[in-house]
Amino acid sequence: MRNNLKVYINGKLVEKENAKVSVFDHGLLYGDGVFEGIRSYDGLVFKLKEHLDRFFESAKTLMLKIPLSRQEITGAIIQTLAANRLKDAYIRLVVTRGEGDLGLDPRKCDHPTLIIITDRIVLYPKKLYREGLEIITVPTQRNIPSAVDPQIKSLNYLNNILAKIEAVNAGKEEAIMLNHAGYVAECTGDNIFIVKQGELLTPPTYVGALKGITRLAVITIARREKISFREEIITRHNLFNADETFLTGTAAEVIPVVKVDGRVIGNGKPGTLTLRIMQEFHQLTRTDGVRYHL
Ligand code: PMP
Repeated sequence: MRNNLKVYINGKLVEKENAKVSVFDHGLLYGDGVFEGIRSYDGLVFKLKEHLDRFFESAKTLMLKIPLSRQEITGAIIQTLAANRLKDAYIRLVVTRGEGDLGLDPRKCDHPTLIIITDRIVLYPKKLYREGLEIITVPTQRNIPSAVDPQIKSLNYLNNILAKIEAVNAGKEEAIMLNHAGYVAECTGDNIFIVKQGELLTPPTYVGALKGITRLAVITIARREKISFREEIITRHNLFNADETFLTGTAAEVIPVVKVDGRVIGNGKPGTLTLRIMQEFHQLTRTDGVRYHL
């Protein structure tokens, strides 16, 4: 992270070292808040509308009032990008419940905290995009939608962090999380796709996955390119016997997977459909979003 970075907090741009919130903020005390991870590519905030839709939907479920309108948030994001002279950036948009007392009651929190952090993007090493990831399934299951719906992009990521720890302990970069019934849901910070006999498959989000914006972009590409696509329940057996596998996410974009739980996927190299989708996705990031100038 850069030293002279400016961070947006509640309407002000402050130096990184002064970008602080109260220890009584319920975002810290309880993970009570929502966030988005967004990218900008060469002066274009990619799929900003879709990110804001998801952000406001998550907040609605939490009955958390976002203190700015969509238009004001867009302005604040661009203002923060401009202050940091960033044309290619990772943008973290956060709203917490704000400062309250030590109880859970959100009514005690009068003012939500709105934070925008923009920084250079750190990706997986390039080699992994060329050669593919080796990942594993882990014991920690995805949250049950009837308890905490994985479609809420909240600040409470412990479920995913536990899975990430299991991946890291096994020397792997990512973990595939199954749902309570044992079906493949998603990874700790990415959605998952497989290719079988020319058909692209991904689990429906009701299985317990975030409605990823990169996931939707890939589905849109598949439809446009007349690639056969279905949302389908996926088991570990289906994963092991896939011809291709890849992950999608704002930070990772589209990244191939070549080994799952020690089973080689396809011929052990990124598949042709995966490579084609990676290329199409790259094109899309140059055209689909909100333009800004520094
Ligand atoms: N699943 C989880 C749990 C995530 O945190 C993310 C990243 N935000 C994704 C999937 C991918 O979503 P998106 O493509 O919108 O970044």
